Amino acid sequence: MRCPECNEFVSFKEEEAEIDSIEIDEDGTVQIEIRITNSCSDCHAELTEAYLDIYSSVDLTGHAHRSGICNENLKISVRNAKRINKMEDKGKGVKKFYGARVLFIVSCSCGFSFAQEATDYEEAYNMESLI
Ligand SMILES: [Zn+2]
Ligand SMILES: [Zn+2]
Repeated sequence: MRCPECNEFVSFKEEEAEIDSIEIDEDGTVQIEIRITNSCSDCHAELTEAYLDIYSSVDLTGHAHRSGICNENLKISVRNAKRINKMEDKGKGVKKFYGARVLFIVSCSCGFSFAQEATDYEEAYNMESLI
């Protein structure tokens, strides 16, 4: 595509995934909002963006101790947020998707901990233009 900032024909640079919010509720439902952007490989102007919503759930059956269910608040953090992409052959042509993969870690002061990878994608065609 032509970049309107530097007026050159350029390719996209996939910028690092930005974690916007991370939440976990009492049932173990996890929601992670991530912003991904693609910028001009030449002048670094941000050209397109998308917001990804990753939903996942944590198996809390192990979150108990001798006296029963633990009532402490769970903590969640995200590590290793990475940009990924994929191509899918839909029969009428190949579609490109941009996405992110995160490793989230849920822990509690009682010693419970749980780690899982999760991914989400947006079709390249649906990326929001910023220019
Ligand atoms: Zn540019
Ligand atoms: Zn606990």
